Amino acid sequence: MSSSAEEAQRALVLFSGGQDSTTCLAWALERFAHVETVGFDYGQRHRVEMDVRLETLRELRVGFPQWALRLGDDHGIDLAVLGQISDTSLTRDVAIAYEKNGLPNTFVPGRNLLFLTFAATIAYRRGLTVLVGGMCETDFSGYPDCRDNTMKAMQVALSLGLDQKLRVETPLMWIDKADTWALAESLGGSQLTQLIVEHTHTCYHGVRDTQHAWGYGCGECPACALRKAGFENWAAR
Ligand code: ZN
Repeated sequence: MSSSAEEAQRALVLFSGGQDSTTCLAWALERFAHVETVGFDYGQRHRVEMDVRLETLRELRVGFPQWALRLGDDHGIDLAVLGQISDTSLTRDVAIAYEKNGLPNTFVPGRNLLFLTFAATIAYRRGLTVLVGGMCETDFSGYPDCRDNTMKAMQVALSLGLDQKLRVETPLMWIDKADTWALAESLGGSQLTQLIVEHTHTCYHGVRDTQHAWGYGCGECPACALRKAGFENWAAR
């Protein structure tokens, strides 16, 4: 595809307000003519995510006027039903731990399959042809619905089911957290990495009263540990 055809594309970014999806949003804004965002409220314990995502969108509009021109509507989808049918530490008041199958109990079974399906429905209605998500196979907790093959299968299933070509882009699939910081820096310089530190949220416990060099969080949950290690590896380069 020529770069001008690529630029004319309209995209929908699965945007949770975390480091990964904010980097994906910047990636999409740098690439596509028109970009919309979607966020899912599924009764997650760290509801602070739903608040900081609006703050992050606002900061992006203010700090990056060239991206603000491309940044369209934000869609908030109520998926409370997901909280009702899953039993995980993200939606229940239980400690984060690892299950016998090696997956952390933060895993909401099939979450990304549902997210992509709802996103595709919105994309169809809004005339958006690319879905962008922060799924990553290399350094997260082994969630099977984040794997590259799962994403490719979803791309085929959604394109067939909607009878319309839909592309699923996952710019973070093969990079680690240090590379994600580096990608953000290459897209928006230190202004973007600082915005990510200050305004995005990753911590499973929703802690926002302690700010570290890498951002807010408890500093100890698996999400904080990953974000902290990635930041420190990137900063040491
Ligand atoms: Zn944490």
